[in-house]
Amino acid sequence: MKHNKIRIAILGSTGSIGQQALEIIQKHNKLFEVVLLSGHSNWQLLDEQAKTFNAKHAVLTGFENNNARKQIGDPAKTRTYIDPYILNELVNLPEIDIVLNSLVGFAGFFPTYHALKAHKKVALANKESLVVGGAIISELLTESKGSLIPIDSEHSAMLQSLIGEKKEDIEEIIITASGGPFRSLSLEQMHDVSVEQALQHPNWSMGSKITIDSATMMNKGLEIIEAHWLFDLPIEKITPVVHPESIVHSMVTYCDGSTKAQLGPPDMKVPILYALSYPRRLPLNSSRMDWSQINKLHFEPVDYSRFPCIELAIDSVKMHKGGPAILNAANEIAVTHFLEGKIKYIDIAKVIERCLNQIQFNSILSYDSLVELDQQTRDYARTICQHGTY
Ligand code: NDP
Ligand code: MG
Repeated sequence: MKHNKIRIAILGSTGSIGQQALEIIQKHNKLFEVVLLSGHSNWQLLDEQAKTFNAKHAVLTGFENNNARKQIGDPAKTRTYIDPYILNELVNLPEIDIVLNSLVGFAGFFPTYHALKAHKKVALANKESLVVGGAIISELLTESKGSLIPIDSEHSAMLQSLIGEKKEDIEEIIITASGGPFRSLSLEQMHDVSVEQALQHPNWSMGSKITIDSATMMNKGLEIIEAHWLFDLPIEKITPVVHPESIVHSMVTYCDGSTKAQLGPPDMKVPILYALSYPRRLPLNSSRMDWSQINKLHFEPVDYSRFPCIELAIDSVKMHKGGPAILNAANEIAVTHFLEGKIKYIDIAKVIERCLNQIQFNSILSYDSLVELDQQTRDYARTICQHGTY
């Protein structure tokens, strides 16, 4: 049977990207339809969303909620699953056309992998999928009839700037970074910044993990690795540049010296909608730039001495195939400890560097060896955070 609407599963619908995706779907409800929603801990919001969108499937992955809630949404319309692993199976459902993955952290890798194995189109916000499993996912994409379309604003800008061009003509990708809330702080001033200060992003409103990653600029490091796998380019060809206004979302320079860019207000709904409608564009009632009022756009180099995380990310790719997995797991643990007030902002980079130096990886890169390496790194990172031995 042919379906008129594009049927979407939103993994992580209770998060920042997930909620914005639902707003877009509501506005384009003649074109899109929600079939599956997932949340981790926020069952109240998931319940509301399932009712509003008449989702056929609602998944709660947070194990601790096992006994908290037996039904999400209207029982006549929605089947509820309370299971941390079920998404890996449900992404196979024939009634799903697009899997929008907006989970946070390495947890997002697994459904991306299984959705591509099931030949689905994946609209990917979860950058950790490619950071950790880029090699595996790239290989899978060569066999899969599925596709991967980025939601991350920088990668959406790259994709848009690459249309109609040949890969061999690319000289460099310039990935822009806002510089986050501590762009102008000295190293001394960074010693005592609080969690609240780190959570104040100047341009974007996002989940707490990515907001801290933006404050350390690890976010840009993760995005460089993401671009490396997404566009199959050497890491040396992806150059970060600080652009505090977040209006130029990224650029591509070609062999004749021309640079193409995608510009717009900092609004994640633009790249979310583009990923869902790609290669088409659909109308979006978002704010518009008044270009006659933009007197200046600023660009400056990244200061690696104040933002060591970005260099650690670039180096992790050059170390060995497990480098980015160690980097990511160490970062996730360090950020959690920082958010809980257990380590300082400046300790985040120290934890990651120590993990990269101490943890060995001699196995062949596979789904199972990645899981093992991730777990080993988390255990080590937790221990050094608890004992202050980073
Ligand atoms: P949020 O923290 O706002 O949302 C994360 C979502 O994942 C929530 O639905 C949460 O459920 C769920 N979740 C949390 N932990 C787990 C877990 N262990 N297993 C399964 N689900 C889990 O994050 P964002 O929406 O900000 O970011 C999502 C992804 O998109 C990240 O990878 C981020 O880097 C990327 N991204 C985000 C941007 C943004 O503007 N926010 C921009 C570009 C990329 P619950 O809330 O119910 O606990
Ligand atoms: Mg981004």
